[in-house]
Amino acid sequence: MEVITSVESMEQKVKELKDSNQRIGFVPTMGYFHEGHLSLMDYSVEENHVTVVSVFVNPIQFDPGEDLDVYPRDLERDKDMAKRRNVDIMFCPKAESMYPENFRTNVSVKDLTEGLCGASRPGHFDGVTTVVTKLFNIVQPDKAYFGRKDYQQLMVIKQMVKDLNIPVEVVGCPIVREADGLAVSSRNVNLKSKEREAAKILNKSLEYAKEQIDAGERDPDKILLLIKDKIRSEPLAAIDYVEIVNGDDFKKIDRIEGKVLIALAVKIGQTRLIDNMLLTLADKE
Ligand code: AMP
Repeated sequence: MEVITSVESMEQKVKELKDSNQRIGFVPTMGYFHEGHLSLMDYSVEENHVTVVSVFVNPIQFDPGEDLDVYPRDLERDKDMAKRRNVDIMFCPKAESMYPENFRTNVSVKDLTEGLCGASRPGHFDGVTTVVTKLFNIVQPDKAYFGRKDYQQLMVIKQMVKDLNIPVEVVGCPIVREADGLAVSSRNVNLKSKEREAAKILNKSLEYAKEQIDAGERDPDKILLLIKDKIRSEPLAAIDYVEIVNGDDFKKIDRIEGKVLIALAVKIGQTRLIDNMLLTLADKE
């Protein structure tokens, strides 16, 4: 596996790969790899000639007061893990080279970024779309792999690629979970042992909602209340948001039917965790 740390070297490498007609798969990450990241790498390795994984803790997608400083990092560990997954290139640029002093551009997607995580993290999605545009331009992938754990992010990037005619196929991949249902996340290492137990409540409450919907409940307000009550039963959990929205445009719905997204963000101690469930229900029963 080749490790590339400068933007110029990455661009040069991409030129060589393009000249030899190699199909490039790309997995953008903030590092501190876990099974979720590794599953994206596996899809890419399977479907492309060359897989590039980027590790970049993107400062502009963290709002002031968020966890940029305590975001876990371990490049040596990441290198080992990526190598074992047959990744070809790990791209780890420095913040100064991605955002030199005179950097002045912002990429912003409207509407889809306003609710859910966008409401509690105002600058977040502009930071994501700006860095992903830069990474797409540097790496020029044929396919790019994103997890459905960050479902809003996936849909925002799909919209951006469509609107800006960026020639990349964006592939959404399944959520990888621990045995007890907790979605794996780099932030999980910041959970103390009691918090780790408490964190199970995110997935549990989604599963509980699904049971109620499977049993016939179609009122989103009732389901929301059930989810919130369930989360509040866990003393270490503090709700940031719980929403039930249309799975395509994230607009509020008054009946659970069609493609529905149940998304939530919950603080467990100091750690903010997200999870979601996408349901597709027959419009008529
Ligand atoms: P991050 O390093 O947290 O920015 O995540 C990099 C990529 O991994 C994003 O596309 C995430 O959606 C994806 N990802 C993170 N956690 C999971 C998970 N539990 N299952 C699947 N994909 C994930």
